[in-house]
Amino acid sequence: MKTAVVTGGASGIGRAIADRLRADGCHVAVLDLNPGDDDFSHAADVSDRDQVEAALTRIRAQLGPVSILVNAAGLEGYARFKKLPFEEWNRVINVNLNGTFHCIQATIPDMLEAGWGRIVNISSSSAHSGQPFMSHYVAAKSAVNGLTKSLALELGPSGITVNAVPPGFIDTPMLRKAEADNKLGGTIDEHIQRTPVRRVGRPEDIAAACAFLVSEEAGYVNGQILGVNGGRNT
Ligand code: NAD
Repeated sequence: MKTAVVTGGASGIGRAIADRLRADGCHVAVLDLNPGDDDFSHAADVSDRDQVEAALTRIRAQLGPVSILVNAAGLEGYARFKKLPFEEWNRVINVNLNGTFHCIQATIPDMLEAGWGRIVNISSSSAHSGQPFMSHYVAAKSAVNGLTKSLALELGPSGITVNAVPPGFIDTPMLRKAEADNKLGGTIDEHIQRTPVRRVGRPEDIAAACAFLVSEEAGYVNGQILGVNGGRNT
């Protein structure tokens, strides 16, 4: 059995990915700010390298070396750029981009040793379209896509694939809060009307894409940005 680490695995998309990889036969450890009580769930802020390393030490002791990493931990931010405080810019970049950096750098020694690994980064369809009042978030997620492509080239020769899944509108606590706060530029129902498949995405839609990308049979898929958005971005 392979050991997978899912960051942000206590809620929404990350939780669905953790459930799916477990159902597919992986040992799954979750790394989250608010991890819950599950046996293999660990509290860590992905933007804090010491906390990430400490959690990984516990995970390796429980489940052995990590061969799959899915970076789903993330947070959004909304602010007019002209008034965006640098501290807020940094907070969003720190979790969404630097957190991805820390978790990848802390887990790849195991994958390099094994000569096999899978990394999937959950970015955002907003990196494709841009999004007003979310410049920091979109900048971070765009950088995650760039990081993905570069690492795919760098780590591919060592048997490690690196891909990204940018979700469209997915029904999670993050999306519901954005709707409640009037940050979506319309209601979820209005967005559904602009989505070719005429429904909001489910966390399981993202989990299915991740399940494929971390599988043995996806070994020739590397450096790809696999949009899962109902056809809104092509
Ligand atoms: P969510 O809020 O339901 O879950 C996010 C999880 O990340 C939470 O469990 C939270 O505790 C954890 N987290 C946040 N900051 C963390 C930190 N510093 N360290 C560790 N864990 C942390 O959100 P979601 O909608 O499931 O989002 C998951 C990912 O998908 C995020 O990266 C988000 O940017 C991305 N995304 C979501 C949507 C959407 O429509 N829901 C669209 C595009 C991208």
